[in-house]
Amino acid sequence: MPLHPGRPAGERPMSVNPFLGPANPVGDMTSAPPKHRLADGPMAPSTAYQLVHDELMLDGNARLNLATFVTTWMEPQAGLLMAECRDKNMIDKDEYPRTAELERRCVAMLADLWNAPDPAKAVGCSTTGSSEACMLAGLALKRRWSLRNAGRYPSREARPNLVMGVNVQVCWEKFCTFWEVEPRQVPMEGDRFHLDPAAAVELCDENTIGVVGILGSTFDGSYEPVAELCEALDGLQERTGLDIPVHVDGASGAMIAPFLDEDLVWDFRLPRVASVNTSGHKYGLVYPGVGWVLWRDAAALPEELVFRVNYLGGDMPTFALNFSRPGAQVVAQYYSFLRLGRDGYRAVQQAARDVATGLSARIEALGDFRLLTRGDELPVFAFTTAPDVTAFDVFDVARRLRETGWLVPAYTFPANRQDLAVLRVVCRNGFSEDLAGLFAEDLTRLLPELRSQSHPLTRDRNAATGFHH
Ligand SMILES: *Cc1c(COP(=O)(O)O)cnc(C)c1O
Repeated sequence: MPLHPGRPAGERPMSVNPFLGPANPVGDMTSAPPKHRLADGPMAPSTAYQLVHDELMLDGNARLNLATFVTTWMEPQAGLLMAECRDKNMIDKDEYPRTAELERRCVAMLADLWNAPDPAKAVGCSTTGSSEACMLAGLALKRRWSLRNAGRYPSREARPNLVMGVNVQVCWEKFCTFWEVEPRQVPMEGDRFHLDPAAAVELCDENTIGVVGILGSTFDGSYEPVAELCEALDGLQERTGLDIPVHVDGASGAMIAPFLDEDLVWDFRLPRVASVNTSGHKYGLVYPGVGWVLWRDAAALPEELVFRVNYLGGDMPTFALNFSRPGAQVVAQYYSFLRLGRDGYRAVQQAARDVATGLSARIEALGDFRLLTRGDELPVFAFTTAPDVTAFDVFDVARRLRETGWLVPAYTFPANRQDLAVLRVVCRNGFSEDLAGLFAEDLTRLLPELRSQSHPLTRDRNAATGFHH
């Protein structure tokens, strides 16, 4: 029997059309949709659509969201391809061999882009984002460590640890919690807001599964010194024999540096770099839902972590936390690679960097703020109030910017700079020079009122910015 939007007994149908007011026998707008339990009966698709659509109007505008690193604009053709693929499950590699082939091509292109010594030997896969990619990379490090320690693992004393800056993205804290690895974090000091190679090496011992280098930091957009980190670890190996691999978390920067900072050596050119991840949905320029992780060669990814599933037909090796996953984002990644090529990516990322450095300079010129970064590494910059500003703080600025629709996070830094609170602006494709100009004007217009406050006014800081790391 077809499913008709019949009227359940005793319930009036809902409508969102104001023409059908209370006086109209067909329906009204006075009843709210169910929120806590499944309704007894169905409703018309047009009504369901309108109710959901209308509720979502209260979300922020994604294009004005300067908090997110994630792509908020793609070309209509990309959207079309994604719609065409929304029914394809990425895991069904035998059923959708062309989708699987596009994934393989993306991995090969990234291996080449990240200078794998032998791109044919690099292995990698798509993921739902960098978080899953980092879990997989961390698991490979942990397994390699336990294979090295085969004789004595798992002994009670041998607890694996992972060394990283305190500025790591939360996925690394999740990794350590979920997989019982001790996080060893290098704190911030003074004006150093990311990892220091010497301090990182100090934290390493025979149970260190690896060191994470971040390109670049979510806190301020700065690149961590990956080459210097590798050099410091080379020194450690010479002194002690400990051979500790590096994973580069290039969630954003692995899609910026290859185009804009070709001379910066951070990738597989460094023999100590075992694996690299990126978020396809950040500067890979794809809508949310795709990440990538690559290992320099098969030796860096222990074979026992790779699963082969045969019940869908075929015998396909996979390494993933998920089973089912949308295929559309992988297709969209290949579209972006094809569409832009190296020159296209360079142009898009350069434009984002130009907007970031231009906007940070305008903000600095206002005189009320001090820049921590300028957007010349990731197209991302962080700034705080100038030392003589006492009338308002960054939380006030974030709250007031919301009035004009701009979503800019304000947050405090971690150890040892908890005293420092900043605002951060992420410039992405689609945040044009024109929009940046409008943002600067809105910020400028707010300043007289902020300056006339007697003291900072934002009590509920989380509510002010709605930002959670
Ligand atoms: C965003 C980010 C992550 C997490 O990536 P998702 O794609 O959001 O899962 C991890 N590390 C860094 C440095 C990031 O910027």
